[in-house]
Amino acid sequence: MNYRDYIAIVKDFPKEGIIFKDITPLLQDGPAYQSAIEEFATYANRLHADVIVGPEARGFVVGCPIATSLKIGFVPVRKKGKLPRETVEATYGKEYGEDVLCLHRDAIKPGQKVVIADDLLATGGTISATIELVEKLGGIVVGLCFLIELTDLNGREKLQNYDIFTLMEN
Ligand code: AMP
Repeated sequence: MNYRDYIAIVKDFPKEGIIFKDITPLLQDGPAYQSAIEEFATYANRLHADVIVGPEARGFVVGCPIATSLKIGFVPVRKKGKLPRETVEATYGKEYGEDVLCLHRDAIKPGQKVVIADDLLATGGTISATIELVEKLGGIVVGLCFLIELTDLNGREKLQNYDIFTLMEN
């Protein structure tokens, strides 16, 4: 499957200078979406994942079907103020200022093996904060999977201790 055919490239979105990778054509194509999820499910299964974690919002559309395919749980990571019960928090730097990501405090049990899924690895800030949250709760991050990796942004450098699986580069 050539997944690249299902990614739309949009220049200067959401602002000038950004080349946005739009994954919605892949989601709209049943066989392509299913094939990508199957590859991730095979990966997570090989690592004996107990749970899939995904940051909002595109981490949900990647992570949830992996979890249901393996009959394991899915745990959402959300921006501050969105989760209704007690949370743990991690702050991460963005281009302008900081953002806070949260996880329900009871979402991960100590020792659980976690695979984190998202649509795209850019600078690695989102995923590093997600890893921090999982590890705060005693989870073991056994793998990270992404549809796309923007290699020019060197996100991998921040993630050297983790196994990474991506379907496409740049
Ligand atoms: P980062 O924290 O820099 O690794 O950014 C990753 C998050 O930002 C992912 O969840 C993506 O959804 C989004 N993102 C960053 N850069 C792009 C891009 N060029 N095209 C589409 N989404 C992006």
